[in-house]
Amino acid sequence: MKSAKTTRRIIDTLAQQHPNADTELNYRNAFELLVATILSAQSTDARVNIVTPALFGKYADARALSKATSAQLEPIILSTGFFRQKSKSLIGMAQKLVAEHGGDVPADMEKLTTLPGVGRKTANVVLGHALGVPGLPVDRHVLRVSNRIGIAEGDDPVNVEQQLCSRLPKELWTLASDVQILHGRRICKPKPLCDQCSVRDDCDYYQHVVKKTREPKKVRTARR
Ligand code: SF4
Repeated sequence: MKSAKTTRRIIDTLAQQHPNADTELNYRNAFELLVATILSAQSTDARVNIVTPALFGKYADARALSKATSAQLEPIILSTGFFRQKSKSLIGMAQKLVAEHGGDVPADMEKLTTLPGVGRKTANVVLGHALGVPGLPVDRHVLRVSNRIGIAEGDDPVNVEQQLCSRLPKELWTLASDVQILHGRRICKPKPLCDQCSVRDDCDYYQHVVKKTREPKKVRTARR
C-alpha cells in the first residue's frame, strides 16, 4: 500500500484534474443535503436534483417533513426508486430530528447514524459538506478508485475509510472522497479511461494490469 506522502500527492493530483470537485447534489442547508443524500441511494444525483425542488418547496424543514404521510411523499420521490422505504426513512428521520434535536441536523456521526435511513456514508456526506466536520464518505466509486490505485485495500467501506483517513490530514478527507467519486464517474469507470488519467504513473492497476496487456508480445524465433 502507498505511503501517506504518496497518498496525499495522488489526492492533490486528482484534485487538479477535477478542480471543482464537490457533491453534485443540490442543497441549501444540512437538512436538504441529508434528505437529498437519503434519496440518492440506488439512484443518481441528477435524478435526485430533479425531484428535490418540489419536495423542498412543500417540506422546507424537519418540522414540515415530520408531519408528512407516505401517501403524500411517495408520488414526489417515486422516480428515485425504493420510494416506499425512502419515504418511511425521510418521515422517521424528520420526526427524530424534531423529537431529539429541536429540528436541527446534529453535527455528530453517532447521533446522525441513529436517524432512520442514515448510514455512515450519508452521515459523512452531510458532516463534510454542510456542517464543517471532516468526513470521508466511501461509496462504490471510492472503493473502486482507491483499490485500483493502491491507496486502500478491500471492499469494506468502513475499513477503506479508516485506511484513507489514517494517511490523509483531516482537512483533505472530504476532498479526497469528492475527487475519487468524480474520478470514478468520469475517468476510472468500471472500464477505465487510463489514457486520460493524471495518476496513472502511481496507479497499481495501470502499472500491473493495463500496461502489461499493452506490451507487445515477444516473438520467439525458432532455433536452427
Ligand atoms: S490509471 Fe486507470 S485504473 Fe488507474 S486510476 Fe487512472 S483510470 Fe483508474
